[in-house]
Amino acid sequence: MEGAVGLRPIHRRAAVTLPCAASYNGRARDAHSLRLRVSVDMAVVDRLRGALGSMPGGPQGFRYFRAPGRVNLIGEHTDYNDGFVLPCALDMDFGVALRPVAGRQARIVAADMPDAAADTFEVDQPGQGDPAQWARYARAVVWSLAEEGFVVDGFEAVIASDVPQGSGLSSSAAYEVALATALARTFGFEIALPRLALLCQRAENRFVGVQCGIMDQSISAMGRARHGLFLDCRDLSFEHVPIDTEHYRVVVCDTSAPRTLAGSAYNERRRQCETVAAAIGRRHEGVRALRDATLEMLDEVAGDITPVEFRRARHVLSENGRVLEAKSLLARGDAVGFGRLMADSHVSLRDDYEVSSAELDAMVEIANEVEGCVGARMTGAGFGGCTVNLVAAPAVEAFAAHIGRHYPERTGRTPRVYVCEAADGAGEWG
Ligand code: ADP
Ligand code: MG
Repeated sequence: MEGAVGLRPIHRRAAVTLPCAASYNGRARDAHSLRLRVSVDMAVVDRLRGALGSMPGGPQGFRYFRAPGRVNLIGEHTDYNDGFVLPCALDMDFGVALRPVAGRQARIVAADMPDAAADTFEVDQPGQGDPAQWARYARAVVWSLAEEGFVVDGFEAVIASDVPQGSGLSSSAAYEVALATALARTFGFEIALPRLALLCQRAENRFVGVQCGIMDQSISAMGRARHGLFLDCRDLSFEHVPIDTEHYRVVVCDTSAPRTLAGSAYNERRRQCETVAAAIGRRHEGVRALRDATLEMLDEVAGDITPVEFRRARHVLSENGRVLEAKSLLARGDAVGFGRLMADSHVSLRDDYEVSSAELDAMVEIANEVEGCVGARMTGAGFGGCTVNLVAAPAVEAFAAHIGRHYPERTGRTPRVYVCEAADGAGEWG
């Protein structure tokens, strides 16, 4: 059933590799060696258990919940144009251990923060005081739940995560969805997953103050192992589409480049898209957003808009088309065809939308040199951040080694490579 938070046992996942000089969540890896990565899930749970040891009252009564990070496979800069996206959940988890306590106070310990920082607040007044940035997300979720009438009682929680922070793999959405899931399960709230996702998005938009779309929270809540999630950002309808995980791996490569221009360029792109949608809307009733437009319509208004606006809109229109095509190709098991769409998406983002960077382009070019890499593209808003790659399983080690060798040569930066599996959405551990 789509509407329920699924149970998932703690599992040891298949060993995967990391490239040279990579680090994983701050844990340094040996330079120039391929290393086996053991189950990250176990590490999160172990860290939660370790932190519980220091809780007054010990670990009794805690339940463990998790929600994954995500990567967008295709459909970039389409969300705010009411379009389509196709992310998958990653086997990197944000974990929450939580138990109800008497009274109206919440206490949260962040096991990943220096000295296991803690935040305490009244559950009826999560906006009171001036909490640390990391604590704002937790308070935001409590606030957003209450906005919908889901008022929590007092609780204690510990949080720990293996979703890298600020790399574009959406640790923030994983955090919100994991905590919302924990609170909903603990206090007996029945919340359908799309609603849970919306509630978490509102927490981030209105309480934390970050204007994210709905994709991140949706995939973290509704992801399915070995599947991507086709999501219509207008009506939030969705469909799970299979990924051939037997033969391919989703590999995320972090350029380690700062996302400098991201904010201003993002706002500028949004405005350009709105301008073109309005120009088309003046001629075609019913065109509310670029999602409703066609390339023919865009051609008609070419004289009314700037060449730059034309290219921006062309990206959005072609990208929406690619997401729809990707959905059918994946359903047919055509990973190679899907990989070609990923390549086209990158070119469109680079040339029409102009949100790539020298590092992202280099990472994609180097990836494309590896036999067995069937698709490579930048993912996320752009100007730094990560690429996403579809790589034949037997080629993964060679892929990681190739990136590890050539990316630093080309850019002077140290990449991080995450070999991932498409994972389940939020649930309870154990
Ligand atoms: P992204 O979502 O791309 O990882 P964001 O800047 O949106 O990056 O969210 C990162 C923020 O989320 C961190 O600065 C921190 O406030 C919070 N966060 C993420 N992971 C953790 C964690 N393990 N413990 C505490 N806070 C976290
Ligand atoms: Mg985020």
